[in-house]
Amino acid sequence: LRKAVIAGNWKMNKTRPEAKALIEDLKPLVANAACDVVICVPYTNLETALDLTKGTNIKVGAENCHWAASGAFTAEISAGMLTEMGVEYVIIGHSERRQYFGETDVTVNKRVRAALDAGMKVILCVGELLEQREQGITEEICGLQTKIALQGVTKEELKNIIIAYEPVWAIGTGKTATSDQANEVNGTIRSVVEKLYDKAAADALTVQYGGSMNAANAEELLGKEHVDGGLIGGASLKAPDFAAIVAAAS
Ligand code: 13P
Repeated sequence: LRKAVIAGNWKMNKTRPEAKALIEDLKPLVANAACDVVICVPYTNLETALDLTKGTNIKVGAENCHWAASGAFTAEISAGMLTEMGVEYVIIGHSERRQYFGETDVTVNKRVRAALDAGMKVILCVGELLEQREQGITEEICGLQTKIALQGVTKEELKNIIIAYEPVWAIGTGKTATSDQANEVNGTIRSVVEKLYDKAAADALTVQYGGSMNAANAEELLGKEHVDGGLIGGASLKAPDFAAIVAAAS
């Protein structure tokens, strides 16, 4: 039914020689993957990643893009600049962008629109803070983030969207959501999408889990009905670890 997608988010890691070594190590390890494999890398490594993955099953993504096509937006990168290079995927709305760089639901929506207009595939991140989970508003927060991010997105365009549920308290903390917690919120996100579109669109949507996913816990998480893949931070920086997660999804 839904093909699993395992995506690495390298965040602000890897010099060019380090990126080369990681990708070369990864290639043979994931060559027979049954799932889709994506690596989202810093802008400075995009060209290297595109070159080295040519003719392989590894797809390349960026970690963000701006909503305008061009203009006076110092340090930003447009979706068109990415597609022109051959970059297929882009992460939008990562909690680190929301927390540290003032990203809001509205700017996330604008970036999603721009990426879709440029023909990109979007990995849209949503997730609650620890205090929001403790307040019992996880489903409302994730539902609202999903709804606003998808404003103006048609059912046809939804095919180019993956949603990644990443509870903020689980990111980089070693504290993974339980597989039941992940499944529950992923299911909620799917039902929000069903209300916005229809059941067929919701059933076809890939919903990933992200947050301290690793070789040891991937199989359990990915075994859940609504967990269709993973967005992997720390464990994507080592080829054997990332490959083990890819194998768990296969
Ligand atoms: P970690 O896997 O390092 O917890 O990061 C998850 C993440 O933020 C992926 O986007």
